[in-house]
Amino acid sequence: MKDQLTLVIASGNPGKIAEIRDLLTEYPICIKNLDDFGPIPPVVEDGETFDENAYKKAGFVSRVLGLPALADDSGLVVEALDGAPGVYSARYAGDDADDAQRCSKLLGEMKGKTNRRAAFECVISIAVPSGPALTYEARCEGLILETPAGENGFGYDPIFYYPPFKKTFAELTREQKSRVSHRGKALRELKDEFDKVSTWIRQHMPYPEKFSCHEEG
Ligand code: IMP
Repeated sequence: MKDQLTLVIASGNPGKIAEIRDLLTEYPICIKNLDDFGPIPPVVEDGETFDENAYKKAGFVSRVLGLPALADDSGLVVEALDGAPGVYSARYAGDDADDAQRCSKLLGEMKGKTNRRAAFECVISIAVPSGPALTYEARCEGLILETPAGENGFGYDPIFYYPPFKKTFAELTREQKSRVSHRGKALRELKDEFDKVSTWIRQHMPYPEKFSCHEEG
């Protein structure tokens, strides 16, 4: 029997970890968090694209731990703000700000703007310690409200209105959000070809036990 694959979720965001775990539960893989290991230095997310940052996180954690790692980089892209906050979504209101402060900064910037179109974008990178990575991307379009609504989710969820459900992301259950969200879609693409992904991971991981020497005779 093949050994079970281990995949480390290279994120410290509990909201994201829960969504990723939910979506991959039915797969025969052992999912680990960063908390399952000793301290790992933080990765500087200074890439100019979601793609670059996702690979930085997955690649770094994979090299440090010697295990396949999955990271996502995501954020909110607002049309009327020329794509801001984009890759700066997490730091939009400064390094120490919380979700409520980030939402309120965005609402301030959006005052008087009639074009409320926005999209959450997500790139997932699965990297192996030798360097190569697989990438999955998805987006989810919606509108920026004028006042927050809802208590669920995280980040900009209370101000992101999803027209097909007539609700903000923060008014959805985690399961409802995952069905339509940027991260949910990207993870489903990954899930749909998970057999190929696990073959790819196995082909790119060293197999020390396979090549260990046993004396004949
Ligand atoms: P990162 O991908 O961890 O660098 O963070 C991206 C930032 O974008 C998060 O801190 C949130 O502020 C925001 N973000 C990403 N995905 C979501 C989501 O599903 N809902 C709300 N905010 C999100």
